[in-house]
Amino acid sequence: MPTRRHTLKTLAAATAVPLVMPFRLRADGHGGDVFDTPGGPVTVHPIAHSSIVIETPVGVIYVDPVDGAASYEGLPEPDLILITHEHGDHYDQPTLNALLTDDVHVIANPVVHGRMNREGAEVLANGDATEWNGAGIAAIPAYNTTEDRLQFHPQGRDNGYVISLEGFRIYISGDTEDIPEMRALEGIDLAFVCMNLPWTMDAVAAQDAVREFGPRFVYPYHYRGRGPDGTQDPGEFSEMLADVPEIEVRFGDWYG
Ligand code: ZN
Ligand code: ZN
Repeated sequence: MPTRRHTLKTLAAATAVPLVMPFRLRADGHGGDVFDTPGGPVTVHPIAHSSIVIETPVGVIYVDPVDGAASYEGLPEPDLILITHEHGDHYDQPTLNALLTDDVHVIANPVVHGRMNREGAEVLANGDATEWNGAGIAAIPAYNTTEDRLQFHPQGRDNGYVISLEGFRIYISGDTEDIPEMRALEGIDLAFVCMNLPWTMDAVAAQDAVREFGPRFVYPYHYRGRGPDGTQDPGEFSEMLADVPEIEVRFGDWYG
């Protein structure tokens, strides 16, 4: 028979594991999908809804970091932060304050750039492009086209981004519908495409656009919505693309 003291010690040892597990689980849950590219590995960490961490050969890029600094614990610190637009699921100043050091470069659309008031932050409007650490960063339009959704993302205000690394181009849609500018994209290796209602588009529209610009890999993201038909099913999105084997759908633990 174990002594009571022994039992308590055993219990303490057992509970010590769960005490450290949440952090480990969270970090593991963010995964890290590695893509081999000509310039070196690119690792994708899906964080939440619209927030992505991408490790690239030229630095660590955070896209729309929100959800508090704890969500980024255990991940490499950002070198560049890209912000698409001012909605709370994309731009959260307290999260930025926790992540930003003097060394972090920030690129944002004009509205967020104005609100941030950060010296050295760079503004890109739709159609603008810049270079960062040898990578091209282009601001792609992101907007609604359906009449009763126009107020969410009016044309000309918000950004998607294309990041051009050596031999590897990444597209991040931001909040948009299946606009001509998305359909016209060329040479995209990895894409993150939004789908939810009422704010963006449904999975049918998303897969139709993806089919047209033909990325090698695509992550459905930003798919939780409002109302009975708001949330889009990433599995359904994938099934609709099953007849296009050149496009590989990847799933991230966005809501874990
Ligand atoms: Zn939005
Ligand atoms: Zn959004």
